[in-house]
Amino acid sequence: MNPVRPQTKSEHGDLLFKCQHCASPLIVDAAAAGMTLNCQRCGKPTVVPMMSVPVSPTSPQELTDLQRKLKENESQRTEVTGYINQLSIQLHRWKLRLQTLNERKDELEEEVRKNS
Ligand SMILES: [Zn+2]
Repeated sequence: MNPVRPQTKSEHGDLLFKCQHCASPLIVDAAAAGMTLNCQRCGKPTVVPMMSVPVSPTSPQELTDLQRKLKENESQRTEVTGYINQLSIQLHRWKLRLQTLNERKDELEEEVRKNS
């Protein structure tokens, strides 16, 4: 297995790519194309692509876009969390209602038994 070392520049015959997990820039010998290697930074197995993937620094435009997506993600998470909380309260109420009905059923059955 070829050693994986973090680097920023690609040499001839090497493959430059990003770890699938931590996006850390990695460089390996071209012979490792298609193989699965453990990332040197996070230690997780990551697939070496058949061709180099450009690892360019993030542009201000891309950064703005990422921040927008993050904000969007956050508001969606808040919304979903709200739904989950609402439904949890609803579920709790239905459970209490069922419990009351079960208690009532026992009482009624007891009455029937006594009078039959
Ligand atoms: Zn990694």
